[in-house]
Amino acid sequence: MEVTNIKAYGTRAAEAPLNQLDINRRKPTPHDIEIDILYCGVCHSDLHTARNEWHGTLYPCVPGHEIVGKVKSVGDHVTRFKLGDLVGVGCMVDSCRECQYCQEGLEQYCEPGNTGTYSSPDKHLPGNPTFGGYSESIVVDENYVLRVPENLDLAATAPLLCAGITTYSPLRHWNVGPGKKVGIVGIGGLGHMGIKLAKAMGAHVVAFTTSQSKFEEAKRLGADEVVLSKDPEQMAAYRGKLHFMLDAVSAEHDVNAYLALLRVDGSLALVGAPEHPLPIAAFSVIMGRKSFAGSAIGGIAETQEMLDFCSKHNITSDIELINIQQINEAYERLLKGDVKYRFVIDMASLKG
Ligand code: NAP
Ligand code: ZN
Ligand code: ZN
Repeated sequence: MEVTNIKAYGTRAAEAPLNQLDINRRKPTPHDIEIDILYCGVCHSDLHTARNEWHGTLYPCVPGHEIVGKVKSVGDHVTRFKLGDLVGVGCMVDSCRECQYCQEGLEQYCEPGNTGTYSSPDKHLPGNPTFGGYSESIVVDENYVLRVPENLDLAATAPLLCAGITTYSPLRHWNVGPGKKVGIVGIGGLGHMGIKLAKAMGAHVVAFTTSQSKFEEAKRLGADEVVLSKDPEQMAAYRGKLHFMLDAVSAEHDVNAYLALLRVDGSLALVGAPEHPLPIAAFSVIMGRKSFAGSAIGGIAETQEMLDFCSKHNITSDIELINIQQINEAYERLLKGDVKYRFVIDMASLKG
């Protein structure tokens, strides 16, 4: 297979900082699109993966799965996109396309497993991992490419490709809407999108944060009420009050304290993916017939639906634009919860 050598930013080991490195991309095959990457969001999953916190990271690791850019070239059989189109790529670049879940538009739960945008075995270049968006360009099958709305700020749209869909999908699945009281836990990249989306769906939104500095801002983002989760008195006021909770916390925390806030038959869906297990007390779910659930990103069609929903409701991410050379510092700040609310890399900084 013919390849092109391009510039990227990544790491060769869990303990090593990210640095500039060269990677190979396949030349577009007939169904592929080559995308010139303009912006890439920084998801906490990038950090978990670069540092091998979930184990199984394939090195060298080039993270980045909140990609927006322009179509630079198209394969002969591409029908859905043309040169210059604004496009996006999220967490998946392929799946088997045949299993029951792929057929149902749930490619994220593909039985043999989907191909992650980064750190998955590359079907086209055997022996190599897939490389993500911290790079000049990417080549993706058109069926896994999203159409980016023209009316939204492009850099602030990048985070929708992961933070947006990961919160949109469970909010839809658990029927969040008018008449529902919904809790969003952990106001980082995912959580702040969760607030905006749940509000736009018509729910009454309660934000739970450990950061005093986000208390007032959560209301600006759309929360009807905000709770400082470290304060047991504030927490106690919400016991048994919420229909649904979305937990987007990236580190160890006490899930039982949040399960206590659900109404009878309420559900808490975990999207945060901490390195270590979260213990659940039996009576946290027995009393009140509660469900403790989880959710992974969203399918391709649902991701397009989310982008179109954001276009209609004028929803983007609140971002801090950085250069690629600041990525290691950005990771350290992510660990401190010190980002309002998503770092986005201006990829011109890699090309320059
Ligand atoms: P993030 O921007 O770093 O936000 C995480 C938030 O969690 C922080 O802003 C903070 O919110 C809270 N938090 C952090 N440490 C905490 C601690 N020790 N105790 C309590 N709260 C703490 O991360 P993100 O990019 O939104 O990602 C969140 C998690 O979702 C990560 O684990 C990521 O890997 C995972 N993820 C999962 C999926 C999926 O498909 N399920 C997709 C994308 C990401 P406050 O300051 O408000 O407390
Ligand atoms: Zn992500
Ligand atoms: Zn499949």
